[in-house]
Amino acid sequence: MDALANKAAIVTGAGSGIGRASACAMARSGAHVMVSDIDEWSAMETVQIIRDAGGIAQACCGDVTQAEFAERLVAATIAAFGALDIAHNNAGVEAAMAPVGDALEADFDRVIAVNLKGVWLCMRAQIRQMSVRGKGAIVNTASVGGLVGVPGNAAYSAAKHGVVGLSKSAAVEYATAGIRINALCPGLTRSGMTDRLFAARPELKQQIMPPMQRLADPAEIAATVVFLLSDVASYMTGQAIAVDGAATAI
Ligand code: ADP
Repeated sequence: MDALANKAAIVTGAGSGIGRASACAMARSGAHVMVSDIDEWSAMETVQIIRDAGGIAQACCGDVTQAEFAERLVAATIAAFGALDIAHNNAGVEAAMAPVGDALEADFDRVIAVNLKGVWLCMRAQIRQMSVRGKGAIVNTASVGGLVGVPGNAAYSAAKHGVVGLSKSAAVEYATAGIRINALCPGLTRSGMTDRLFAARPELKQQIMPPMQRLADPAEIAATVVFLLSDVASYMTGQAIAVDGAATAI
């Protein structure tokens, strides 16, 4: 229960889905959580859920595509909790489904800006702080779409492959600096993103159902985040961990 006792944490995209489940699971494991999202209302809801359960949380809201915000988020965490020990970079957006030939440049730019550059900006700010103290752990949300192609969503898949590359590269760079960095690759997970996808394309649900024949609950993804950020995973770094009901096993 106390795998993250008194660790000062950041979770981006913590206003819904995987990010909210991760923030709650981290708080239940003893972390003090800086809940971050571009949507202030949903971030405050997550803070309230954590506080109602007896946990410690504050909110710091903004856009992960802005370097200034990534730095401010780290500074706010240190001001609130005295340190930055662990981070889950999870903020993300979906792209409109379309084959490459029909896809829009603006959609490509947005998905890359939030899902890839946003992770890089946040991770950069976090590593600058963690390397001063010579310790820390980071999980970046990639996707099974960061391990295999996603027909109809090439930009999303490219951004998520990019997150895997960022995570592996930084893990090697900081392997002797006490900072572990892993990419988490969730399969289909019940979230705002999958709700919207299946509302728009109901036929997709059966086509992309994994061998387990069900979607993940966000809590099942969050449990792996807690594990990767805890000292139990002290020798795990530079990995892309799939939590996907065997979707990438076939
Ligand atoms: P998932 O459960 O897969 O993480 P969601 O769509 O439920 O998917 O959650 C993604 C979260 O990321 C949302 O709460 C959303 O508000 C947040 N988000 C999207 N874009 C940004 C951004 N530019 N900066 C910060 N947070 C963002």
